[in-house]
Amino acid sequence: MRIVILGAPGAGKGTQCKRVVAEYGLAHLSSGDILRRERSEGTELGKEAQSYMDSGALVPDEIIVKMMASAISESVESGFVLDGFPRTVNQAQELDNSLQSSGQKIDAIINLNVDDELVSQRMTGRRSCPECGAVYHIENLKPKVEGKCDNDDADLVQRADDALDVVANRLKTYHEQTKPVVGYYKSNGTVIEIDANKDADEVTGFVLDKLEELASALK
Ligand SMILES: [Zn+2]
Repeated sequence: MRIVILGAPGAGKGTQCKRVVAEYGLAHLSSGDILRRERSEGTELGKEAQSYMDSGALVPDEIIVKMMASAISESVESGFVLDGFPRTVNQAQELDNSLQSSGQKIDAIINLNVDDELVSQRMTGRRSCPECGAVYHIENLKPKVEGKCDNDDADLVQRADDALDVVANRLKTYHEQTKPVVGYYKSNGTVIEIDANKDADEVTGFVLDKLEELASALK
């Protein structure tokens, strides 16, 4: 199976990806991980990406697509789940072109739908311990004593990534750039819509049910 997982920040993509990969023995191709690996190994593409990053620019779609295409070509046998990619319609089109040239295509897109308010509540309510790294939530996972870590009594803090303005900004970028990718795939492929407003285990249940159907249809 060749799958793409899409969803807003905070929709639980990482968790669902890991579970799908474990269930079907697929390769987990995370664009963030692959970019880090290419840079640390100093490959040609890695060096090129690094030069953009050094100048504070975004790595161009062309380089990201080349990196992902190369990782995909190594995962033809196992199948794969794409995580964090494609992030724009342009990347999705480039990916399709690249797959077509090797006679492949994406089998399904899993779209994790979650309400903005819930994402915002999930993310801005997180508190973490600067001493031991434990993560709490002001409503869903409260420490025994408000504002204090259960393990070491340290004062809990909100990470910069979880601040309201940062979360609002990430949601805005998602709606502007990544949501149109869902539209692109709706006219070019199979989109499986998942209600990701539930808890993670329930969402995994929905996702695996749909993939079972897909797997038998592909046989
Ligand atoms: Zn702690």
